[in-house]
Amino acid sequence: MFRCFMGAMKEIRNIVILTGAGVSAESGIGTFRDKGGLWEKHRVEDVATPEGFARDPDLVLGFYDMRREAIQKAEPNAAHFALAKLEAEWPGAFLLVTQNVDDLHGRAGNRQLIHMHGEHLNALCSACGTRSPWRGTLADRPACPACGASALRPDVVWFGEMPYRMDEIELALSACDLFVSIGTSGAVYPAAGYVRTARHYGALTLELNLEPSAGSLYFDDSRHGLATEIVPAWVEEMLALPQMSA
Ligand code: NAD
Repeated sequence: MFRCFMGAMKEIRNIVILTGAGVSAESGIGTFRDKGGLWEKHRVEDVATPEGFARDPDLVLGFYDMRREAIQKAEPNAAHFALAKLEAEWPGAFLLVTQNVDDLHGRAGNRQLIHMHGEHLNALCSACGTRSPWRGTLADRPACPACGASALRPDVVWFGEMPYRMDEIELALSACDLFVSIGTSGAVYPAAGYVRTARHYGALTLELNLEPSAGSLYFDDSRHGLATEIVPAWVEEMLALPQMSA
């Protein structure tokens, strides 16, 4: 099934969506650069790098314990639910790549989902490499369920570390007809470069964000506003597009 979109007589079958902290902002989870937010009270170098963790593990584990607790109290919003509806009803290939480490896309119902920066609700054992589901605290140095070592850290990709499932993401970008970036500032690589990769392979590109992002000029179209308003509106538009051919 193919559809025409954005005024271009382009057949859209495969969609790749990239989301960032902005999609969860209206669920009460602060973005990276929110004024007065949790991140403003800490330097990125201290809480989001392996070097910061080595310097002060208590600070880092305590910081992520707070965030893990906060996301369990948050609920998916209208933008998360709209993206789950798009995945359920879109007839072509669909992949949602998120930089978010919360679990709100999954709770809304998305299954074709890659958490490229890891997940707050997993713990990673530095001793044996096992990733275990984790809802409690890590600052008290609990034992790894797999090997028993007290070497658990948040399963979150820090600056200087390799994001997850990069090959799968690159493959999907090379085959997509439409790339959509939602609620991300375009400041963190490699995700910030995905719009250029998708364009290189001939995809149309759309940005949905509160404001123009750092990479705004690379998008064919941009729509600005709250994610809970502009994402559901865009999804309805996609699902109503006339079918061009079978
Ligand atoms: P960012 O904070 O750098 O950018 C967020 C973007 O969202 C900004 O451009 C902002 O204008 C936009 N925005 C804010 N509120 C919005 C709303 N209501 N609707 C639409 N857009 C809105 O976040 P980023 O680009 O995702 O990069 C930051 C890094 O921090 C990522 O690596 C991510 O893993 C991490 N992070 C994750 C979470 C989370 O899991 N929810 C939260 C904070 C930071």
